[in-house]
Amino acid sequence: MSDLFTDDYAATADAADPLQRFRAQFHMPRFGDVEQAYFVGNSLGLQPRGARAQVEDVLDKWAMEAVEGHFRGNSQWMTYHSLVGAQLAGVVGAQPGEVVAMNSLTANLHFLMVGFYRPTAERPAILMEAGAFPSDRYALESQVRFHGFDPATDLIEVQPGADGLFGMETIAEAIQTHGHRLALVLWPGVQYRTGEAFDLAAITRLGHAAGAVVGFDLAHAVGNLPLQLHDSDADFAVWCHYKYLNSGPGAVAGAFVHARHASTDRPRFAGWWGHDQATRFQMGPEFRPTPGADGWQQSNPPILGLAPLRASLDLFTDAGMPALRAKSEALTGYLETLIRSQLDDVLDIVTPSEPARRGAQLSLRVRGGRDQGRALFEDLAANGVLGDWREPDVIRISPAPLYNTHADVLRFARAVARWRDA
Ligand SMILES: *Cc1c(COP(=O)(O)O)cnc(C)c1O
Repeated sequence: MSDLFTDDYAATADAADPLQRFRAQFHMPRFGDVEQAYFVGNSLGLQPRGARAQVEDVLDKWAMEAVEGHFRGNSQWMTYHSLVGAQLAGVVGAQPGEVVAMNSLTANLHFLMVGFYRPTAERPAILMEAGAFPSDRYALESQVRFHGFDPATDLIEVQPGADGLFGMETIAEAIQTHGHRLALVLWPGVQYRTGEAFDLAAITRLGHAAGAVVGFDLAHAVGNLPLQLHDSDADFAVWCHYKYLNSGPGAVAGAFVHARHASTDRPRFAGWWGHDQATRFQMGPEFRPTPGADGWQQSNPPILGLAPLRASLDLFTDAGMPALRAKSEALTGYLETLIRSQLDDVLDIVTPSEPARRGAQLSLRVRGGRDQGRALFEDLAANGVLGDWREPDVIRISPAPLYNTHADVLRFARAVARWRDA
């Protein structure tokens, strides 16, 4: 076991990594003369080297072609959002017509709920996880109120077990208890604080059996887990692209609408970019949505914001989600093994141990309590090992398989050991 704690072991594992060439495709943040050990790809993914060229292409096109840029060349702005559609569909396991890059995550959650949260007096409620990312809770609570219902009774927050985790049993029990009152089940793909991953198909089956619509927030799942969104049968999903998808701060977000809703007459907040593409520029007064996820767009998209996503998706398409997941399981497994075998006296792992119940991230608690946790977190950062801190007491470490290495993971473990032994 202890030979895992050597440079030799990490170097050999990295040399055998079929995805090792991808690290050079990213700008690695510096720490003095060396690269930072960056474990925050779940918060802001690193910049792909190809992003600058994609942004410059747009700036050049704007400079030279101005309004004609909408209609000229392969990357014309009229259809620019669809350039990312096919690759994005591949990353999330959807059909091309089921996904669209638009808006921001929380905005997409709201806009899709216009159609997919239709509360009635008998079925007013939304079921979500307790301890959700605050933006999701704010969005859902405000939607319940907007429809004239009371979050105290109609926003049902499922409590996790004593270990902070849910597991399918807890979810199944909650859906069974509240099923007859549920309009919507809105669940994360990966819980942001604990790193617990969920079986989307199983949750969808339970929600549908109870008569509810089922949607997912995949902020921490997209580009992390090998999703099969179409087959999961989820009604809709939303996510952002600045975490594992490496598309830059506040990047344009994503949305999925299942093919069976492609021509839905559910209500929506319409805009011209969601209008039937064939007749959009006839500028008629009556909204006729284009089928599929594209029909949920409102405005013409921010092309400069979409440009880096193309560079990132090229890398994901090249690497392929199955290979990325295989490396991710190996890297996170290595991190877990080093902690359990060498640092068990310092760190408690919050995230489930079964690979099927987690993605890249391990959430860690320092055994000495919150103050010790903060002290370790700050010491790591001062030594070029960057994770992030989530209140009240969690350090999140997320080895991203596109650019992190076994050597990075070993650096983390050594830095923790040094802090403990100091
Ligand atoms: C990162 C994250 C957000 C952020 O929302 P934005 O609208 O992109 O600012 C929301 N929800 C979850 C679950 C997240 O992980």
